[in-house]
Amino acid sequence: MSQVTRSALQKICATCGRQITWRKKWAKNWDAITYCSDPCRKNKIRPNSLDTTFESKILALLAHGRTIHGLAASITCEEAEQEALDNNKNDKPDEEDPETVRESPGDTRIDSQPTSTRERCRQAARRLAARGEILITQNGKVVDPSFAKGVMELKLPS
Ligand SMILES: [Zn+2]
Repeated sequence: MSQVTRSALQKICATCGRQITWRKKWAKNWDAITYCSDPCRKNKIRPNSLDTTFESKILALLAHGRTIHGLAASITCEEAEQEALDNNKNDKPDEEDPETVRESPGDTRIDSQPTSTRERCRQAARRLAARGEILITQNGKVVDPSFAKGVMELKLPS
């Protein structure tokens, strides 16, 4: 029982992949909470966006690395970011997504800074880790991606 309650109180933000901290003001609609913050709600992950490209690129690079290096294969977020951006040059740029512009008329005042591609790649890694598809390590130890700072090494779970 207590374990069920506990896991029900642990949520991962659908955008940034960080753990959402339970707040009293959310007590009534906790089940409906999906994002940790307003910027994350505004920057929700769209299909076929740079964000999902980062996810698939990370998985593809790790799958490829595993065939060469075995279980020890790892990449950094920055490598995946670079690969994804190189590939993306051939496609239409994601930054000028007209949908984003159309969606928020009149509330530019609270519009947040667009998330940097570096952070978006880290968010992709955190989302994958939250789903159990990859592990995030630093100095060879698995870390909690919600709190990891600095270079994140990404691995497939063994
Ligand atoms: Zn978030």
